[in-house]
Amino acid sequence: MAASQLPAWHRVLVVVAHPDDESFGLGAVIDAFVAAGASVWVHCLTAGEASTLGAEAADLGQLRTAELAAAGAALGVAGTTLRHWPDGGLSELPPAALVADVVAAMATHDPSGLLVFDPSGVTAHPDHQAATSAAAAAGEAHGIPVLAWTLPAAVAEELAAKTGVPFRGHPPEQWDVAITVERTRQHRAITAHASQAIPGSVLWRRLELLGDREVLRWLVPPLPSDRSTLALQRR
Ligand SMILES: [Zn+2]
Repeated sequence: MAASQLPAWHRVLVVVAHPDDESFGLGAVIDAFVAAGASVWVHCLTAGEASTLGAEAADLGQLRTAELAAAGAALGVAGTTLRHWPDGGLSELPPAALVADVVAAMATHDPSGLLVFDPSGVTAHPDHQAATSAAAAAGEAHGIPVLAWTLPAAVAEELAAKTGVPFRGHPPEQWDVAITVERTRQHRAITAHASQAIPGSVLWRRLELLGDREVLRWLVPPLPSDRSTLALQRR
């Protein structure tokens, strides 16, 4: 049976591929960690410069850097780092380069654990898959637990059927953590990504289907002695 609380981490390092992944995907989970008193840092591997949305901006990479910082502030994170690996090209890099990048971030932030997208990429985006793969390898190598955000299989199937985007999820027996979330700050953070948050997009449909629930799976489980959890206290 899935735990109903997040792990009691003091410092969380979020590793994502694109500026907006931390809000569109992980926003409510990040908010729950912050509400429980954790210090959260977002480490984003690309500047999102390849997005087809907002392409009219003179320098989309620069715009999205500013949007990431604003979204991070809306979520109450301690800070954000934006790296400049190629957007759309993470899966073509030597995997060791991305692992080394995440290991360096871990050395800086000394996290209790890493928070990432599911290895499927959730939307099957190869950048999402590469970012998670690097974080999982880095966590495994250094004994740091890695928790992955996923979708309930039923939600993924409905979204895939309605939108054609190959969303992937997991059935309840594969969930390790299932929490109740509050989405106010996630909505604010999404709004900060003005170039990407298109009204009527699949993002809003997904949030509607998820309601107040988020589910996660362990990629690198904590050691048994670390399994204590903090009661979630709302701010
Ligand atoms: Zn993304």
